[in-house]
Amino acid sequence: MTAVQPKTEATTITVRNPADGSVVGAVPIEMPADVAAKARELRLFQPEWEALGPRGRKHWLLTYQDWVLDNAEHITDVLQSETGKPRSEASIEAPLTATLLDYWARHAEQFLADEHPRSFSPFAVTKKLTTVYRPYPVVGVITPWNYPFVMPALDLVAALAAGAAVLLKPSEVTPLSAVEFVRGWTEIGAPPVLALATGYGDTGVAVIDNADFVQFTGSTATGRKVAVACAERLIPCSLELGGKDPALVLADADLDRAANGIAWGGMGNSGQICISVERVYVEAPVYDEFLAKLTANVRQLRQGQDDRKFAFDIGSLANMAQRDKVKGHVDEAIAAGARAITGGKPTGTGAFFEPTVLVDVNQSMTCMTEETFGPTIPVVKVADEAEAIRLANDSKYGLSATVWTRDRERGERIARRLNVGAVNVNDVLSNIFAFDLPMGGWKESGVGTRLGGAAGIRKYCRPQAITSPRIPTQAKEILWYPASRRRTKLALSLARASAARGVRRLGIKPR
Ligand code: NDP
Repeated sequence: MTAVQPKTEATTITVRNPADGSVVGAVPIEMPADVAAKARELRLFQPEWEALGPRGRKHWLLTYQDWVLDNAEHITDVLQSETGKPRSEASIEAPLTATLLDYWARHAEQFLADEHPRSFSPFAVTKKLTTVYRPYPVVGVITPWNYPFVMPALDLVAALAAGAAVLLKPSEVTPLSAVEFVRGWTEIGAPPVLALATGYGDTGVAVIDNADFVQFTGSTATGRKVAVACAERLIPCSLELGGKDPALVLADADLDRAANGIAWGGMGNSGQICISVERVYVEAPVYDEFLAKLTANVRQLRQGQDDRKFAFDIGSLANMAQRDKVKGHVDEAIAAGARAITGGKPTGTGAFFEPTVLVDVNQSMTCMTEETFGPTIPVVKVADEAEAIRLANDSKYGLSATVWTRDRERGERIARRLNVGAVNVNDVLSNIFAFDLPMGGWKESGVGTRLGGAAGIRKYCRPQAITSPRIPTQAKEILWYPASRRRTKLALSLARASAARGVRRLGIKPR
């Protein structure tokens, strides 16, 4: 239903609203030569952008923040038209983007400041040491379709704040929001260090071919290809991939809160959030009560094609292919003995799938092992906390998890036993709103992290080490030519001095 142009001789991608199939726009399919030309142009302007420094760049990032806030309604219209989201969900992307701009604009100077560590090594004790954070010239940012406006912002704002130029490749399914993103940057008159490359996967390949660092968000399967392509070019990449996030509902949980939170965490954005709740483990004593509450919540959700009226809670999926994938997971589970106690099938004429709660599922079903990325919540009864933890960790993914208990300390203790990049206790999705924390997947859910204070901007930099003398210099250093025994002796005595300092710290008398 969406982006249905044949991938052969077409020169444009037609973009459709997945809720009704209507055409909402078109973008060019950019060829490798076009992408290379854009990257070359970015390289021309990037040194000037870097030279502006964090303060100069802050001006442009905050001016752009104003543009995003002033154009929030229009941005929401565009992203809603190409995703089929209800208004309430579409409306979050512009404000979140504005807050990200604020965060990086205001913190970049502090996070990128030169560092002057004191030398631990006696071999460099006479030097002034400096670490400088210098940006990669061109960062390629490749994004999926689930949050077409804020997802690019999650990564490219930090890259711009670092002083890099950015080449953005949005999903073929939802390129129009990215067009708006870049249009805004141009409209405020900012330096031309943000460019767009629209097209299919081949365009993504071309972005990798022309970038110095690649930030990829998408499926694990494509992420693997991106990693290989970056390895071939010997450039670094950071990968934010899929998940199969578990929720652990313990017997002492506030069941109303758990059932509300898990309904939202599983159904929000029609389940198309990388950190959606994708499977639920409930301790036996509260299983029936929790299930009844969850099901009641899910049954109340209003699904349909929204306009600006905020009339629906759930919209369509992003395209028919995604709807069919969700259907496949549910059908397979039901054929193997699972039951849909609410929902369970496609609905309407667009890419809609009913909000679904599945029971009698087991750990080997695809709906429990592979990312579904749809409005489905499979629920499993477990004997106790230990079984919940064991099953939660029994996954190739490791993006995030939630733990529901009235005992906060217990929740945090369980968090430390879960093999995932983030755990929210008594809440869902909250880590993504906490920009100070790193967000990244473990295992097949990713490599590297985004956000998270200084690390989130320094990842777009090549740290440069500078040494210079901090004491008066002579014509020669003792380690220089000519070769001599004296040099070896000096090295040993420096190492001994260092070791002696180390043992003294431990309170052991040096030999
Ligand atoms: P895909 O992996 O299919 O696509 C992601 C992006 O990669 C798209 O822009 C796509 O272009 C592009 N692409 C495709 N092939 C290549 C290639 N060979 N080289 C470079 N780029 C390529 O993901 P989806 O768009 O289907 O998004 C859904 C996935 O994203 C889910 O798995 C979800 O979990 C994950 N995701 C992860 C998040 C996280 O933070 N961990 C956040 C949000 C989503 P095109 O669309 O034109 O094919």
